Amino acid sequence: MELTQHSRVAIIGGGPSGSLTAYFMLDIASRLGLHLNIEIFDSSQFTAQGPKGCNYCGGVISETLVQMLAMEGITLPPDVVQRGIDSYQLHTDQGSAAISTPLAELRIASLYRGSGPLDCAKRKACGGAEPVIYRSLDGFLLDLALSKGATLFPTKVNKVTRVGNLPMVFPREMEPRSYDLVIGAVGVNGGGLKIFDESAIRFRHPTTTKAVITEIYLGRSEVDRCFGSTMHVFVTRIPRVSFAAIIPKGEYVTVVMLGRALDRDTVVTFLNHPTVKQCFPDGVDLTARSCFCRPEVSLGTSSPVCADRVALVGDAAVSRLYKDGNGAAYRTAKALATAAIIHGISRKSLERYYAPACRKLSFDNTIGKTVFLTVNLFKWMPILSRGMLGMVRREQSRQDPRRMDMSLVLWDVYTGSNSYKSILLRCLAPRFLLRLLVESIKSLFVVDKAVRAAPVAPPMATEGHGP
Ligand SMILES: Cc1cc2nc3c(=O)[nH]c(=O)nc-3n(C[C@H](O)[C@H](O)[C@H](O)COP(=O)(O)OP(=O)(O)OC[C@H]3O[C@@H](n4cnc5c(N)ncnc54)[C@H](O)[C@@H]3O)c2cc1C
Repeated sequence: MELTQHSRVAIIGGGPSGSLTAYFMLDIASRLGLHLNIEIFDSSQFTAQGPKGCNYCGGVISETLVQMLAMEGITLPPDVVQRGIDSYQLHTDQGSAAISTPLAELRIASLYRGSGPLDCAKRKACGGAEPVIYRSLDGFLLDLALSKGATLFPTKVNKVTRVGNLPMVFPREMEPRSYDLVIGAVGVNGGGLKIFDESAIRFRHPTTTKAVITEIYLGRSEVDRCFGSTMHVFVTRIPRVSFAAIIPKGEYVTVVMLGRALDRDTVVTFLNHPTVKQCFPDGVDLTARSCFCRPEVSLGTSSPVCADRVALVGDAAVSRLYKDGNGAAYRTAKALATAAIIHGISRKSLERYYAPACRKLSFDNTIGKTVFLTVNLFKWMPILSRGMLGMVRREQSRQDPRRMDMSLVLWDVYTGSNSYKSILLRCLAPRFLLRLLVESIKSLFVVDKAVRAAPVAPPMATEGHGP
């Protein structure tokens, strides 16, 4: 089972994993002189505002992904990137600390997956002015795949079955079509892997949890003034909220929350928390939100991730725990494209040459669970929390790249720039543990006003440049 001249490939889902798989497959095939017919199915309208074109995401692109894409010759255009993020403010119940990019050249991008939020709050504020249409990451990546030669069918797929040896795709309002290879890039929202349920190809769906995303319109000058290029991360004891972040974009800030049974009331409680409120301009109406959604976040791995002539990619296969899902989409897409073209499309080949990439991410997520358990422990142990803040503040004031232990660990935990394995190993280093112990003990004796009520670091004004 191999892809040969004019083999037919269906990719169901035109999110980052689907588009990147198509792009890499066409790229590798053209180098080998192979012509593939790749057809992408997705009904999303990436040029539409609000839910129609949105794939539910915080929209933070790790610097590792920005760099990996750049190495592939894919540069995120300035109209896709809403803002370059070069620092973040960590808020705990014991105070706050600013962490700037540990290695000066690294930068994170904040962007929209669709064409921006529904614009009602903005339009109201501007007396009915025209809404701004932002360029979407997913639209940009899909265009790249199409420019390489893929074809788009703007429709949903209802089911996939097998007829004889070949997988058969049943698109809505189209005749069924058979393919040499079918790739499920369907993510975990909107039905996901259910399309495979009636077929002989059965996948155990990845476990998921609900998150909340909401967009708040402030206007560009207020976002520049209050947030600049700084993202805010909250590891505080707010009821039901285990983690929250505020990500500045062009004229909006995006609030992402994880926790138990999150709803609109939890968002109001969160936004009214004094630590959160101080991040916003005085008197702004935080209830005038432009978009609100409760998407699923992938926590696990599908099992299996491939069968004869069928493979899953991106969130549908495996993601990265609580961060850098788009990085996982890139990694799995590249691994699948290479495995399918070079080694073949039988279950055995895909299992041997593609599945290890998914297992590697899955194993790292297991370590990630330990990392997040530890972070939660800090939340409930003020002495450790103060020790952590003390370490960060000392490192940030010295700016010595060789002594950025805690800053680098926290940077990597929340930005997705490094694997959980590397984070854990650094946390277990004797020097790290000793410094944390010393800072924690010191915090018992020194009433450090700066740690207890650290002001929000003055944000650096940007003009929405790319990273
Ligand atoms: C709250 C939240 C915040 C997040 N924040 C970040 C972040 O800041 N940074 C980051 O890197 N990642 C983040 N992620 C994760 C990231 O969004 C995903 O990992 C990433 O989108 C996975 O891409 P994908 O292409 O696999 O799936 P998706 O982006 O979900 O794309 C799936 C596509 O398949 C299409 N589709 C589904 N079913 C069908 C069907 N039957 N027929 C045709 N088409 C279909 C959908 O329309 C969609 O376009 C976040 C996720 C959530 C939920």
